[in-house]
Parts: sequence; C-alpha cells; structure tokens
Amino acid sequence: MERTMRSKLYIDGKWMAAANGRTFDVVNPATEEVIHKVAAATAKDVDVAVKAARRAFDKDGWPKLSGAQRAKYLRAIADGIRARQAEIARLEVIDNGKPFAEADWDIADAAGCFDFYAGLADELDNNPEEPITLPDARFTSKAVKEPIGVAGAIIPWNYPLLMAAWKVAPALAAGCTVVLKPAEVTSLTALELAAIADEAGLPPGVLNVVTGAGSVAGQAIIDHRQVDKLAFTGSGAVGSKIMAAAARDIKRVSLELGGKSPFVVFDDADIDEAVEWIMFGIFWNQGQVCSATSRVLVHEGIYDRLLARLVEETKKIRIGNGLEEGVLLGPLVSGRHYEQVLAAIEAAKAAGATVACGGNRPEGFDKGYYLEPTILTDVALDSDAWREEIFGPVVCIRPFSTEEEAIALANDSRFGLAAAVMSKDDVRAERIAAGFRAGIVWINCSQPTFTEAPWGGYKESGIGRELGRWGLENYLETKQITRFATGEKWRWYIK
Ligand code: NAD
Repeated sequence: MERTMRSKLYIDGKWMAAANGRTFDVVNPATEEVIHKVAAATAKDVDVAVKAARRAFDKDGWPKLSGAQRAKYLRAIADGIRARQAEIARLEVIDNGKPFAEADWDIADAAGCFDFYAGLADELDNNPEEPITLPDARFTSKAVKEPIGVAGAIIPWNYPLLMAAWKVAPALAAGCTVVLKPAEVTSLTALELAAIADEAGLPPGVLNVVTGAGSVAGQAIIDHRQVDKLAFTGSGAVGSKIMAAAARDIKRVSLELGGKSPFVVFDDADIDEAVEWIMFGIFWNQGQVCSATSRVLVHEGIYDRLLARLVEETKKIRIGNGLEEGVLLGPLVSGRHYEQVLAAIEAAKAAGATVACGGNRPEGFDKGYYLEPTILTDVALDSDAWREEIFGPVVCIRPFSTEEEAIALANDSRFGLAAAVMSKDDVRAERIAAGFRAGIVWINCSQPTFTEAPWGGYKESGIGRELGRWGLENYLETKQITRFATGEKWRWYIK
C-alpha cells in the first residue's frame, strides 16, 4: 500500500469512517488490481459535513477573516501540494491511469490555482466596495461582495486534484466553506488535499471531503437544505439532475459539462503543426477531456496528406502504464468507462464509419483498460460518433470545402464548450473564432488552459465560468447598501 493512501472521510477537521462502516474499492486502471479501500459516505455523513461547514461559515468566522488572512491558508495549501508534488502525481497515476508527466503537470497547476486565488483573496480587501452613482442626490449607494455560504462541490475523475482545486480554491478565497465530493473512481488525491489543508491549519469545517457514490453522497449534497451553492463538473445527465435539485430551494449553481468540440484546419496550415495539435487535442489524458477537440474538420486541399500523416504519428504513440518513462497514453480510467468507449467505437462502425487506425486493445496488454488511439473517417453527421461525447482517445475527421461549411458544421452541435482553428491567416482565424458558438476558443493550438482565463461552455456544455476572476464570482453574492443621506423628511405618509 502507498504510504500516503488515506481511506477515511475528512469532516470537521477529523478523519472518520463512514457511519455504516462501508468502503469501496480503489482499482488501478493499469493493472485492474484493487489497491485500496476508501470510505463510502452515507447521507448521514454528508449531513454531519454540511453542518460543520455551516457552523464554520455562520459562527466560526471564516467569511469574516480578511481576504489576506484567507490567502495565507491558500498559499500554505499551494506550498503543501508543491512539497509533495511527485508523490501526489504518482497517486494520481495509479488512481486515474494518466501518464506521470501529465499528472505532474496537473498537480503543479493545482498548486498554482491556490496561489492564484490567494492573490484574488488579497484583492478583495483592496476593493471592498464599489460606489454607485445615483440620480437622486439624497441617497448614496455602494455594492459589496459577500461569500454565498456553504458550497457543495462535486467533481469528475479526469483531473482529480485539479478539478478539486478549481472549485475549492476560489470558494475558500471568496469566504465560502466547502463540502467536496470526488468521483468514486478517483478519491485518493482529494483526500491528500484534505490532509494538506489540515496541516496548513485550515479551521475545522472549512473544507470537508466526503468520498462515495454519486447516487448516495452526491445526491445527499445536492438535496441538502443547508447547502447554498452547488458547483459541479461532470456529465450532462447528472448536471440536469443538479439543476433540478437546485431549483427546489433556489441554490446557486454552476455547471461544467461535456462537449463535442470541433477543430477546423485550413489549407494554409503547416501539416506537422496541425497533426501535433490535433493529437494533443484528443489523445492528451486518453481523450478523457471535456474540451477535447474530437471533431476535426480539415480543408479538402490538404485532407489526404494530413490524414496520412496523422495516422502515421498516431500509430507511434507509446502506450503503457503511466508510471513508465516515456509513456504518452495510459489506460482509460475504469472498466466501466472502457466498455462504454469500446461500445461507442462499435456503434460508429455499425453506422458506417471507417477505422483509419486503432479501435482495439493494443497487442501485448492483457490487463488494464488500454485502448489504441483511434481515428474514424466517413462518420455520418447524424451518427452518435459525430454528435455525442465518447470521452476517450477517439477522433472523427472529415474534409470541408468552404469557410461557411466549416463554421456551420462546427456549430451544429448541442454542445458549445470549446473550439479550435488553425490557419496562418490571422484575420481569418479571428473571423472563425468570432463565429464559433463556444465558451473557449483556441487559435493555432488546442487545449492549453490557464488559471487566469475564463473556462466554461455555451449551450448544453454548462452554466457559469470557472477560473480567473469569473471563478471567484461563482462564490460571491452582490449586496447593495443604500443610505438616505439627507436631513430631509421623506413625507409620504407623515406629512
Ligand atoms: P458524472 O456526471 O458521472 O460524475 C461526476 C460527479 O458527479 C461524480 O463525482 C459523481 O459521483 C457525481 N454524481 C453522479 N451522480 C450524482 C447524483 N445523482 N447526484 C450528485 N452527484 C452525482 O461524470 P464523470 O463520468 O465523472 O465525468 C465525465 C463527464 O464530465 C464527461 O461528460 C465530461 O465531459 C465532463 N467533464 C466536464 C468538464 C468541464 O470542465 N466542462 C471537465 C471534466 C469532465
């Protein structure tokens, strides 16, 4: 067993077993071995966690601290993550399957996210209020920002610690307290985050981590009357449930959901550069990326050459256990997800798609949820392979002839998370960027993500924005304070 693998819930500053003593298995996707067991929180445990977060918010004074005081805790958490970066990255690999170099990058980004929101917490002190000019000189007014309250944060398995950081860091910076539920297939690093926060001296109840099933622990968070805000990243189906649950008592809600993002490549693009970014756009993290550019549209003038080059390079990707040096594609996260991705490839074939490469378990891998990187052509525009998220290393590619056709195909989706364009013509690239109906647009690249820039989707890809100052706004309410600032009498009823 790994030295640092924790198994208990972190509630009110204490480690505790689930109320009914139940646990669930942690499986290493590279070996299919059960490597650990983690507490499966019940609704009762969630209730204890929410009440602790409530007390930390209402009575113990977390929101009353200055931004600078909260920033100190956030920086201590960032330092704590960095001090154990390689060890935590290793945990992420054995839990999620991703190559170590990617995990290492994620963990560094997670630390950076805490530092970034520490900076914004400091700024809250500098701009405590915004004066408002009123047309009636008898009144003065100002707007102030206040934390929303208790936030329930529910996250997916594709970037376990990073997704936790994207929610916990801005929530704590804003002055909210948090109940965090990681995805059941990747609980380990969220528990380490709790341990690091504990070592940083974060007051009890400010951050609580409850591991467990979405249908039990997750459902208990979204149903809890004392949770003020739900912050969710995951599938559209669960996102809808969360919005419905939030509707009952008007909880604040932000949703980061799925996508089927397009990548439009024009004929003036350098073929090797395009191939590199197409690969980064779909094979990074085994394609288990909400913003993955899984629909590639290539100008017919370079389509054949580009496809041949893409297939050639894709076949060279080194597949293996993420802990091995030089591996660029690890296993998918779980047996269940693996079966779903294989089924999506079979359905694509049945609907007439051609497999240009990949599509199978790679040779020499008897164990582990390994899949060859897969390129599909001749994908029907009305098929699921073109329209629905596969969330694996599977890309659909097709030619286009005109700019109008490319933008129409790109936007013909119920999703609108991300989109990318590649062209040497900057004016054209800007025109296409303006035409995409998506919250995140990349020009001449795909996927680089910065904590400073807003992240979120149009259409069914979500509501609200994470990261940057937008991410902090997710956890703040706006209050107006208006003063009758004159000695005059109002004289409406009492003349
Ligand atoms: P999921 O929706 O199945 O699970 C996400 C989280 O919700 C997990 O913690 C799960 O336990 C919890 N959950 C499940 N049922 C619940 C319920 N009834 N009540 C409360 N919580 C519940 O998604 P997943 O399989 O973990 O992740 C894959 C999906 O996430 C993909 O669709 C992907 O596009 C999306 N995603 C989006 C982003 C983004 O930033 N937009 C980032 C990563 C992943």
